[in-house]
Amino acid sequence: MYDVASPHAEEFIDHAEVMATLDHARAHARDAALLDEILARAALRKGLTHREASVLLACELPEKTAELYRLAHQIKLDFYGNRIVMFAPLYLSNYCVNSCVYCPYHAKNRHIARKKLTQAELRREVIALQDMGHKRLALEAGEHPTQNPIEYILECIDTIYGIRHKNGAIRRVNVNIAATTVEEYRLLRQAGIGTYILFQETYHKESYEKLHPAGPKHDYAWHTEAMDRAMRGGIDDVGLGVLFGLESYSYEFAALLMHAEHLEAAFGVGPHTISVPRIKRADDIDPAAFANGIDDETFARICACIRVAVPYTGMIISTRESQAVRERVLPLGVSQISGASRTSVGGYDRPEDPEENSAQFDVSDRRSLDEVVAWLMEQGHIPSFCTACYREGRTGDRFMALCKSRQILNCCHPNALLTLAEYLEDYAAPGTRELGRRLIERELTRIPGNKVRERARAYLEGIARGERDFRF
Ligand code: SF4
Ligand code: SF4
Repeated sequence: MYDVASPHAEEFIDHAEVMATLDHARAHARDAALLDEILARAALRKGLTHREASVLLACELPEKTAELYRLAHQIKLDFYGNRIVMFAPLYLSNYCVNSCVYCPYHAKNRHIARKKLTQAELRREVIALQDMGHKRLALEAGEHPTQNPIEYILECIDTIYGIRHKNGAIRRVNVNIAATTVEEYRLLRQAGIGTYILFQETYHKESYEKLHPAGPKHDYAWHTEAMDRAMRGGIDDVGLGVLFGLESYSYEFAALLMHAEHLEAAFGVGPHTISVPRIKRADDIDPAAFANGIDDETFARICACIRVAVPYTGMIISTRESQAVRERVLPLGVSQISGASRTSVGGYDRPEDPEENSAQFDVSDRRSLDEVVAWLMEQGHIPSFCTACYREGRTGDRFMALCKSRQILNCCHPNALLTLAEYLEDYAAPGTRELGRRLIERELTRIPGNKVRERARAYLEGIARGERDFRF
């Protein structure tokens, strides 16, 4: 029985409710009056229910779809401006006891090199990332009780925050590790993590159990209720995601939004981010073996629907996506992208080792961070290395309140310019620096408040003198 606030996975992701939603969406895919009504509600920028958003996703009327894209773009500009926050994944260990059939780290894969970073190796990885200009990381590790226990993850977080190399610093560490206990989430919170990210992979319970035939991850309820435990452990920024291609995308989309509604209903705060990975080729994995792969157009439509359904939730795409796909979806509401990612353990310190054979998946966008930064600016976006909210304690509902009142735009924009200026001073190639300086001059004039603008100018002068870490 569907119950949005229930603590039980099978009640807040009720299969019958998902199926009824899909029937409803199919039945109204050409219902112009209803589609207009939903688009009008979306234009209020207060979000949509999973049923409403699913109708938009199923829409078969081209003019309504065009309207959806226009609205997604406008909402993205209203809530996030033209900035794109940059981050990099950092793989700590690919030891894993699970058996996810779509992931090369699965326990039975014998042709992949197993690795776990020592603290000395981690230091080298982080310095390599700092030398590129990264300030925000997403830690990744397989699930392994003896190789990657929570103590190891905590030690790594501590090491990362402690590394100061030239002007570099990692200012926000997000963590993507296996579902765990409230107690361990509390330890992660105390270690100062930013967002706790856990992809659901698929919300379809039967498929989930088939795709995870063994290991602790096999337990659907344990995995699906992880965000509830994280919140009870004091982590109020959580990141959802599904791996598109495993199950039907419309099922995943409806359930993903039901999960977001559940967090809002049960804890008063929705997800901080939603990630939209698609299944990719990797060692021992062939995406063609999964019948539910989605084409680029469907992917773009999903991004647009997420943007209008949960306007306050950041949306993340990774280097799994090609430059062309990224260009297509950035204006539709993506707020964070990774740059120059390595998906192997130790891959930043040893770039000449082309992913060795320990990579989790093939990366489609192989450009350097500097190339990505220059490309974003050429496309009219502001690459941002901002981590201010987290460090000012603006997380969870406080962050949401700020976002919902649109006040966030008063600090995101100048913060993006300040952190970009740091990047340009410390890491950029001459051409990128020139491009960036012109962009900052132009974008400064768009800061509405005189006081904020003047302060931003003063901070920029400080950065030029070698000072760092200004923020609003
Ligand atoms: Fe392990 Fe995660 Fe890969 Fe599953 S997806 S095999 S849990 S690393
Ligand atoms: Fe993100 Fe906050 Fe920085 Fe805005 S000010 S970019 S919301 S960290």
